[in-house]
Amino acid sequence: MSPTTAPAGHAVVIGAGMAGLTIATALSTAFQRVTVLDRDQLPWQAKHRSGVPQGRHVHVLLAAGTQALEALYPGLTDELTAAGAPTGDIDRLRVCLNGHRLARARTGRHGVMASRPLIEAHVHDRVRRDPAVTVIDRREVRGLATSGDRRRVTGVRIGSPGDAGEQTLAAELVVDCSGRGSPLPAWLGELGYVGPPVDELPLDLCYATCRYHVPCEVDDDLMAMVGPMPDKARGAAMMRVEDGSWLVTLAAYGEQPPLEPHGFEAFAATLASDDIYRSLVRGQALEAPSAFRFPASVRHRYEHLGDFPAGLLAAGDAVCSFNPIYGQGMTVAALEAVTLGRLLADGVTPPAQRWFAAVSAIVDQPWGLALAADLALECVQGHRSLATRALNRYIARLHAAAAHDPELTRQFAQVTSLLEAPARLLRPATVARVARGALRRSTPPP
Ligand SMILES: Cc1cc2nc3c(=O)[nH]c(=O)nc-3n(C[C@H](O)[C@H](O)[C@H](O)COP(=O)(O)OP(=O)(O)OC[C@H]3O[C@@H](n4cnc5c(N)ncnc54)[C@H](O)[C@@H]3O)c2cc1C
Repeated sequence: MSPTTAPAGHAVVIGAGMAGLTIATALSTAFQRVTVLDRDQLPWQAKHRSGVPQGRHVHVLLAAGTQALEALYPGLTDELTAAGAPTGDIDRLRVCLNGHRLARARTGRHGVMASRPLIEAHVHDRVRRDPAVTVIDRREVRGLATSGDRRRVTGVRIGSPGDAGEQTLAAELVVDCSGRGSPLPAWLGELGYVGPPVDELPLDLCYATCRYHVPCEVDDDLMAMVGPMPDKARGAAMMRVEDGSWLVTLAAYGEQPPLEPHGFEAFAATLASDDIYRSLVRGQALEAPSAFRFPASVRHRYEHLGDFPAGLLAAGDAVCSFNPIYGQGMTVAALEAVTLGRLLADGVTPPAQRWFAAVSAIVDQPWGLALAADLALECVQGHRSLATRALNRYIARLHAAAAHDPELTRQFAQVTSLLEAPARLLRPATVARVARGALRRSTPPP
């Protein structure tokens, strides 16, 4: 891969989703000008938009993501809270995994429950207030401009959606944050480069989401989650959001949860716990459910490419698109932006190889966690190594033990919220707690 020059001049970011906005903030510390281009018409307030159709569905911000966003935008959590986003200790989450309701654990950490449009609107507002950054909507990036020998990207070819006219916007650096449908592998092919190897786990995951009014006396928690079972790949999450309503997302592998109200609630009754169903039947649907289909988790291994044009990077879903039920995408995007800021502080734009190695190091843990959890489901087709099978048996025992052991819930949450490495759960003291839990269950009461 060719070296990249010292940061200066102009950087272009393709896409104003969570990755594009946070990456723009990181770039603005080193580049004189940063332009973010999005083909969508971007709203000024928290509103759904067609370029981010997933925004209608539950979007959990993991603790590591809250920390990363706070590092990029100090005071953001307070702003979201002031805008109505419910916050509270994680012990106000009701979580059922592998059929076990985990004991509530006090962590001292506050979670922020906000809709995806609210989070994006506040981040967008911060970016707009940065004098180095210009966000331009209704501009579609159609391709890359390069030097004559195609070794360096020199800008992007842009046009307005629906208009064939095209112009070139010059830049010293282009960062592709165009999301899961990124055209970057195709653009590389057109320039004569080999595209990245791709790791893919087919899931055929289907979402149905509906907003509900649920009175506080029925449900005073911040969130409830019921995970899928190995032999019944259905789950759900409901989250209280900024307007006081609840966003309820039903998820199933290989089948679409019903999109009409009665079927929607009946589906909730078939989950491993009736926790969510009980709230829904005493609440009231506020809209018709909407659907989303997620065919596969996809990871582009750009870090394995030996030849890549200078002046070009990628981040966010354009590199790795995770199974959404684990709530990792926004957190990973924010962690990548924090890392880019750190690398730029060295005074040079990281060469592609260094950047993609750093991204890969961030992606490894969430990708590994999601893959292992999906492979615990019988309906998911994929290679299960002995280690994966053993790990999934252990995690099922850990969930059973955590039903009576808040400390195990806390440790599990630390790992799944990306604050600690999975090895945390394999420490001797933790393994002993899990074993004691199994012993307690197998010992009949006197
Ligand atoms: C159903 C679902 C639920 C999810 N739930 C969660 C969750 O609970 N928690 C979580 O953290 N993450 C979740 N995610 C993932 C999360 O939405 C993304 O990982 C995260 O927002 C980062 O996305 P991104 O910015 O890379 O891409 P996107 O959000 O897809 O943004 C890409 C942007 O690029 C623009 N664009 C695309 N092509 C072009 C082009 N050629 N020219 C100009 N603009 C272009 C689009 O208009 C869009 O604005 C979920 C995803 C899905 C699908």
